[in-house]
Amino acid sequence: MSDSIFSKIIRNEIPCHRVYEDELTLAFLDINPIAPGHTLVVPKEPVATIDELSDESAAAIGRVLPRISRAVMRVSGATAINILQNNGSLAYQAVPHVHFHVIPKTDAHGLGIVWNAEALDEEAGAELGRKLARLL
Ligand code: AMP
Repeated sequence: MSDSIFSKIIRNEIPCHRVYEDELTLAFLDINPIAPGHTLVVPKEPVATIDELSDESAAAIGRVLPRISRAVMRVSGATAINILQNNGSLAYQAVPHVHFHVIPKTDAHGLGIVWNAEALDEEAGAELGRKLARLL
């Protein structure tokens, strides 16, 4: 369980610019946007990271993300967006309540990414794939 600043926003104890709400989700403007229209979409379920989230909340988030993305694109004028979801401080998560960033990407604003890719080794990939498939 997590009782973070986002739980306080959900409970209406601190203000935010609410843009969407239903029984299981809430969306509001990020207080330090990296692009105009930068919006956060959160489940009301108070868990810190995505691996802890219930299927029900995950489905509710999945249902609203495309609609919220369309609205963010309309108001920002951006034709590209990133959906960013950080889990754990090592992965740049600052607020320990699951949240999805919807971030317009334009020439002037948006997410910068350093993508340290390496080619997948065929044998290691096959073994990893088998391990994952067994868990799933
Ligand atoms: P993350 O690094 O993925 O945990 O991102 C947390 C985000 O929450 C940051 O982009 C913050 O600007 C945003 N944030 C923190 N406090 C508030 C708040 N009170 N209202 C709106 N956004 C917030």
